[in-house]
Amino acid sequence: MKKELHIAFDDTDSLKGSCTTHLATLIVHEIFDQVDFIDFPNLIRLNPNIPHKTRGNGAVAIRIEGDNSDLAVVREVVIKTVKKMARLEDENTNPGIAFVSNAIPKEVKHFSKRAMWDVISIPEAEEFNSLTNVDLIKLGNGRGIIGALGAIGNPLEDDFTYEHLSYRLPENFGTKRMIDRESILVADEGTPLTFSNVDYEYNSVMITPRGADPVFSGIRGETPEEVMKAWSLVKPLEEIAMLMVYRTNQHTNQHFIKDFVIEQLKPHQSAIVQGVVSKAPHYIEGSHLIFSIKDDTGVIDCAAYEPTKRFRGELSNLVIGDTITVFGGIRPKGENHPMTINVERLKVDFLVKTVSYENPFCDNCNARLKSAGKNKGFKCQKCSTVYRDKKQIEKEIPRNISLKEYLPPIIAHRHLTKPIERKNQNNKNKQIRNSEVKRIMKLLLDFRNES
Ligand SMILES: [Zn+2]
Repeated sequence: MKKELHIAFDDTDSLKGSCTTHLATLIVHEIFDQVDFIDFPNLIRLNPNIPHKTRGNGAVAIRIEGDNSDLAVVREVVIKTVKKMARLEDENTNPGIAFVSNAIPKEVKHFSKRAMWDVISIPEAEEFNSLTNVDLIKLGNGRGIIGALGAIGNPLEDDFTYEHLSYRLPENFGTKRMIDRESILVADEGTPLTFSNVDYEYNSVMITPRGADPVFSGIRGETPEEVMKAWSLVKPLEEIAMLMVYRTNQHTNQHFIKDFVIEQLKPHQSAIVQGVVSKAPHYIEGSHLIFSIKDDTGVIDCAAYEPTKRFRGELSNLVIGDTITVFGGIRPKGENHPMTINVERLKVDFLVKTVSYENPFCDNCNARLKSAGKNKGFKCQKCSTVYRDKKQIEKEIPRNISLKEYLPPIIAHRHLTKPIERKNQNNKNKQIRNSEVKRIMKLLLDFRNES
């Protein structure tokens, strides 16, 4: 009888290169013929505001079906490959592996939801080892079991997207990625269901990462067919080692699920906070924009940093009294700043009327009057008429900001940021057919660069 096995791992990478999806793709290659895949490998981005996570905080889950004996072999392959490939010599790389047989326990699903926005300790994750169908393996200090559990318990039952990843030959790691730039524009144009390939506003290609990691390109979209079509239009100018398509929570805003009042906020959480602007936006050194909001429980600083570019200019039009909803990560108090919300997204809920005051005009000669002194009315400098009862004229100043959602440009988006292009898109309830998964994954695995 066939059994389900869910496998996940995290924290196998480090700044020096390597990456969790690369490891996952190697594992998929090794086990594909032995078992049935019941989903594309899942790339799950977890709370991006966690410390120790300089990169995207992504973990991978692989969901398969097979006979007991085959699943036992797969388990050994996974452990062996993680041990071999993970950068265990790096003290910041602390892999964790999670296995769940058959149905994912509801406690694990609940844990996964929390892993999207909260800070979780290793012992808290370790407690799940007591569930009979959960098996956690710690390497190094084992921090990776948090992400592994977070990924395994997130079967992407809400909105999701796909990412097509291509990988470089090991000898090219760390060198400049060679790609025909023009072909990226063609691919973008030809595939309306992909998104964020290019930031036209800042003239920047987004599909090729800049780091030393093994990823050559990542193309994001709504369907596996569409991201593969985009890849077929791209012309790499170097040999490609492997391909894979991941189903993922990227670009779904999944880390913003919890509303907070200001006094509840704790460092490194991802939070939604509604408040009234209590200190007007102003720029500080480094060209970062700072303002404050308040609610019934407290006051907190909010920051839009220099890399968010024109987003800062848009938010600089907020004034005291405006009601806004801020979506962001909580930066702990530092030497030179209080605890601060790093703004990733902002919704304007209510705008106050802004006015200016001007002196009235003379009834005789239409000249602009001068103040005759505090509470003494106005005096005309031309004909010397004095007006005791005239009041200043109130003039409404148009606001350069509207009741809508504001986002940084694509170049400053995080992996989880839902871009404007996806505003009305939600893939929840879209069926994943096993036969399609199998067919597409086989195509990807059989890929050989023919150039
Ligand atoms: Zn006059």
